[in-house]
Amino acid sequence: MDFEKAKARAQQLRSLLNYYSRKYYADDDPVVEDREYDMLQRELLQIEQTYPELQTPDSPTVRIGGSADGMFAPVVHPVRMESLQDAFSEEELFDFARRVGETVSDAQFVVEPKIDGLSVSLEYENGVFVRGSTRGDGDTGEDVTANLRTVRSIPLELSEPLPFIEVRGEVYMPKRAFAELLEQQELNGDKPFKNPRNAAAGSLRQKNPQITARRKLDIFVFNIQRIVGKELHTHKQSLDYLKTLGFRTVPEYTLVSSIEKAVEQVRNIGQKRGTLSYDIDGAVLKVNDFAARTRLGSTAKFPKWAVAFKYPPEEKQTKLVDIEVAVGRTGVLTPTAILEPVLLAGTSVGRATLHNQDFITEKDIRLGDTVTVRKAGDIIPEVVTVHAHEENSVPYLLPTHCPSCGAPVLREEGEAAVRCVNPECPAQLLRNLIHFCSRGGMDMEGFGDSVLERLVEKGLLHTAADLYRLDAQSIMTMEGFREKSAANLLAAVEQSKSAGLERLLSALGIRHVGEKGAKLLAAHFGNMDALLCATAEEIACIEGFGGIMAQSVFDFFSLPQTADLIAQLRDSGVSMQSTQIVQDKRFQGMTFVLTGTLETMTRTEASETIERFGGKASSSVSKKTTYVVAGSEAGSKLQKAQTLGVPVLTEQEFLALCQ
Ligand code: NAD
Repeated sequence: MDFEKAKARAQQLRSLLNYYSRKYYADDDPVVEDREYDMLQRELLQIEQTYPELQTPDSPTVRIGGSADGMFAPVVHPVRMESLQDAFSEEELFDFARRVGETVSDAQFVVEPKIDGLSVSLEYENGVFVRGSTRGDGDTGEDVTANLRTVRSIPLELSEPLPFIEVRGEVYMPKRAFAELLEQQELNGDKPFKNPRNAAAGSLRQKNPQITARRKLDIFVFNIQRIVGKELHTHKQSLDYLKTLGFRTVPEYTLVSSIEKAVEQVRNIGQKRGTLSYDIDGAVLKVNDFAARTRLGSTAKFPKWAVAFKYPPEEKQTKLVDIEVAVGRTGVLTPTAILEPVLLAGTSVGRATLHNQDFITEKDIRLGDTVTVRKAGDIIPEVVTVHAHEENSVPYLLPTHCPSCGAPVLREEGEAAVRCVNPECPAQLLRNLIHFCSRGGMDMEGFGDSVLERLVEKGLLHTAADLYRLDAQSIMTMEGFREKSAANLLAAVEQSKSAGLERLLSALGIRHVGEKGAKLLAAHFGNMDALLCATAEEIACIEGFGGIMAQSVFDFFSLPQTADLIAQLRDSGVSMQSTQIVQDKRFQGMTFVLTGTLETMTRTEASETIERFGGKASSSVSKKTTYVVAGSEAGSKLQKAQTLGVPVLTEQEFLALCQ
C-alpha cells in the first residue's frame, strides 16, 4: 500500500474504531463483534508500523478503553490500569515467549482464563474497603464505590487489617443472571443488552446502586496493584495470598514452566469455554516473577510481560432443517433455526437464534439451507451465513397469524418484531399471569411461577380476572394445598384488590409501560375511566411519556379483550382508583354498602367515589358498616341495616356527603 492510500485508510480505520469504541464503552451497545474490532485495530497497527509518521498520540492502537463521561467522580489511578497485547494464534504466543526470552531466561508463566467483563480497582485501608473505580482510560476512571459495595463477592473487610492494598479484578455478569435480565428486559419492553459483558458494564455504571444490586454481578480478582505491609515476589504467590485475604480470585490459575505447557493450558481452558457459568474471551499468559516483570517493562498501552490469547469464535457448517416460531412474553414471534446438531465451543448446538424477519430476509435464510453457525463469546448460537439453498426453496416469511392462538399478528412501523397482541393468547397467558402477580404488579404473595403454572394446567385460570374467582376448594385440588395455604392465597387475592390503579396498570404488562410509566398514568388520570376515554394525543401530553409509549397504551386499551378484562376486574372489586390522589380522606375508616338502584350514578361509580375519598365499598352489611346507601327497590340489605341499627342514607344524602 502506498503512503497516500495508507494515510486515507488509517484515517478511515481510526474514525471507525473510535465510533465502535464509543458504542462499546460509553453506550454498552456494541455494533460489531469483538473479533471484527480486533482485526480492524490490527490493520491500523500494521499501517502505523509501516508508516510511523501516520501514528497519532490518540490512536485507538495506543489508547486504553473509553474515557470517563462525567457521570461519576473521577479517580486517578496511581498505578496505571493497563490493557493487554493480543495474540490470535499459538504462533503468536511462541513469538511472545521469544520476546520475553530476550530479556529473561527460563521464564515461568501463570495461565488464567480471560474473563469477559470490565476491569475495576478496589482499594482497602486497614483491611476495610474504601474505594472502587472503573478502569476508564487507564489513568483516570470513575468512582463507583457505592455500586461495587452491592457486589456480594467483593469483601467489605479483609481477613487481615493490612495497612493498604489495591487490587484489580474483572466484574462480570454470570450467564444465568444475564439470561434472567434479558427476560426481564423483554417483559418491560426495554432494549436488551447484547452480551453479558455489556450488561455488566451497563449495570455497574448506574446512578442508583439499588439497580446494580439487582443485577447479580460477580467479580474475579487477578492482580495486586499496590500493597503496603506485605512482601510478595511472584504472581502465583500473590494470587494465593489474595485468596487468604477473602478475595474471589480468577479461577484455575496455573503455574507452568515453559511456553509449550502454557499453550497446552490455553487449549484446555478453550475446551471448557462453553461449559463455564461465565463468559471468557481468551486466556492470559503472565510472567510469574515480579523482578523479571520490572526488567521487561511496559509500552504506552500494555505490559510486555503478559499477553492475551483471544479464542476465535467457533464456526461450523450444518443444515437448517426447520424454523420454529415461538410466542414470547410480550407476544413477540421469535424464530429459531432447528439445526442438525454440531459441536461448538464444547456444547452440542441444535438451535440458533434467527432474531426476526429482517435478519432472515437480510441473510435470505430458507428451510433446508446449509448454514454456518457461530458461538462467539455470546451464549446464544447464531446463523452467520447461508452457503447454499436447497433446490426449489423459497424465501422464508414469518406466519401472518399467531401460531398459538391464530390471531392476526402485527408489525409496528420502525420495529423489527412481529407480535401477537391478543392478551388472551394462551402462549402469553402464563407469562402475563406471572407478571400480573409479581412484586412489580399486584404483589400477590404465594402466586409464584409454579403455583400459577399448576392453576393454568388445571384450567382454573384463563385470564387475570380468573384469579379473583378462585375459591378454596379449587385451590385445594392442587397437590400440597390445605385449608390454611388456600386461605393464604385467597387473602393475597383479596388484598390485591386495593393495590390501586398504578399497580394495576403495571400488572397489566402494557408494552413500554413499566412501574414508572404506570405511576405517571395513574397520577395523571386518577381513575381507569378517565384513562379509558383518553386519546393517544392526550396520553402523550404526560410529562415523561413519549409518543411510542402513549400509542402503546392507547392500542392496549382499544382492544376489545382489554375492555372485557377491565370490566371483569372491576366487577370483582379491583380498585380502579389511583392511590396517589387520595388527598381528601373524608371517608377514611368508613365502610359503605350500596343497595337498590341509584338514579344519578351506577353502583360502580358510587364505589369509586367512596374509594377516592379513602373509604371502602363492601357488599355485605354488618355491625361494622358505617352507612348503607339505599336506592329505589332496596331489599334485604336495607332490612338488615335497620335490624342492626346501621345508619341508612338516601342517594341525595350520600351525594351531599360527597360535595
Ligand atoms: P482486552 O479486553 O483485550 O484485555 C485487557 C483486559 O482484560 C483488562 O483490562 C482486564 O480487565 C481484562 N482481563 C480479564 N481477565 C483477566 C485476567 N485474568 N488477567 C488480566 N486481565 C484480565 O483489552 P481492553 O483494552 O479491555 O479492551 C479492548 C477489547 O475490547 C478489544 O480487543 C475488543 O475485543 C473489545 N472492544 C470491542 C468493541 C466492539 O465494538 N465490539 C469496541 C471496543 C473494544
